Amino acid sequence: MRVIECKDHGIQSRHVSANACKVIERLQQAGHAAYIVGGSIRDLLLGHRPKDFDVATSATPEQVRELMRNARLIGRRFRLAHVRFGREIIEVATFRGNGSEDSEHREVDQGRLIRDNVYGTEPEDAERRDFTINALMYDPATETIRDHVDGYEDVRARRLRLIGDPVTRYREDPVRLLRAIRFMVKLDLTMEPATAGPMVSMAPLLGEIPPARLFDEILKLFLSGCAWPTYQALVRQALWKELFPDLFPDPAQPPPLVEQALKNTDDRVARGLPVTPGFLFAAFLWQRVKARADQLIAAGMAPVDALAEAGEEAMAAQARQVAIHRRFSTMSKEIWCMQPRFEKRRGKRALRLINERRFRAAYDFLLLRVLEEPELEELAQWWTRIQEVDNEEKHRMVQPGGKGRKRRRPRKRKAVQ
Ligand code: ATP
Ligand code: MG
Repeated sequence: MRVIECKDHGIQSRHVSANACKVIERLQQAGHAAYIVGGSIRDLLLGHRPKDFDVATSATPEQVRELMRNARLIGRRFRLAHVRFGREIIEVATFRGNGSEDSEHREVDQGRLIRDNVYGTEPEDAERRDFTINALMYDPATETIRDHVDGYEDVRARRLRLIGDPVTRYREDPVRLLRAIRFMVKLDLTMEPATAGPMVSMAPLLGEIPPARLFDEILKLFLSGCAWPTYQALVRQALWKELFPDLFPDPAQPPPLVEQALKNTDDRVARGLPVTPGFLFAAFLWQRVKARADQLIAAGMAPVDALAEAGEEAMAAQARQVAIHRRFSTMSKEIWCMQPRFEKRRGKRALRLINERRFRAAYDFLLLRVLEEPELEELAQWWTRIQEVDNEEKHRMVQPGGKGRKRRRPRKRKAVQ
């Protein structure tokens, strides 16, 4: 193990969460080892602001609970203590070890870890972590970093390296494939060749991951401000098609609407605006939904019903890979189903549309559609304008014969793509 002094790494205890320090002090006073571990130390060294501060300790979860009244035990796959300080929660995990493979505390299925509650020593805990840069331990009492896996060198070289044999580690937990992409893109790291090498061939293992866990990972991939470069990296490593199979003919050339939706998401994150996965999923699945809805419309179904049905089908197909939470899939469907309603510009119902809950998202979606359907440009401009003008002008715009009037033309049906 290498110990790196504060004068070399520069992280002082005032840079880390005061509550995490309290937890550590308490544990250390009771005779346990305890350190800040994982992403927060990595982020501080790389100049990013940590999301949260996790603690690893030699104390068992039960001992943590006995020492701290504000601790609660959670988790099955990993048993943990959560220590709550108002809105901040410090996650405290007991050092994990290697133990025997078929002990009652660890379940392995064809090389994949199902449950991992074998406790171990500090160095074993470091080695069970995924990437070297995620395994650094920081002791606020001495302001030193404890490095069991040469992670400090990797941070300094901005290098992403799996601990141990990459093929074994990806097989153990294929979600590490996605984590690799996330850290590489978000933290601007280069992937060490042995870590990058097996990715494409191991990508199909993602099929074994429960859709709910993939969903959580996908939110992190696409909502942390690097959605577009992340998308490109996922495509390059053959991971995208495991998550969203058969959506686009060539994922390397995604539809313009999808590319722009990803870029807009990043732009919003950069400006501190809220982003919702419901909008992104609406963009991802749109081509499929639209093609199917056009078929249903051609067979005589009303446009809104056709989009509802096509949306339902697309979501059901997608749920086999990634379980999209209902509140987000509902939002995607609302965005799709509002699209034909933009074509009705006359009367009160046009004004009512503006006040609907999903109007803003659906309008933003209409703007994206213009990229692929330039004939929608005028319509989109009309909806932009009606939001900008005063009430009197709004009413004038929706009058029959007003600017809002749309000449009745026979509906041109676009070819199914
Ligand atoms: P962030 O919170 O920014 O997403 P993080 O590195 O803190 O990044 P978490 O998911 O919060 O990621 O996990 C905390 C730590 O737990 C990681 O830094 C890593 O050491 C370890 N870890 C997380 N997931 C895995 C995994 N699938 N396999 C091995 N170790 C993991
Ligand atoms: Mg974290």
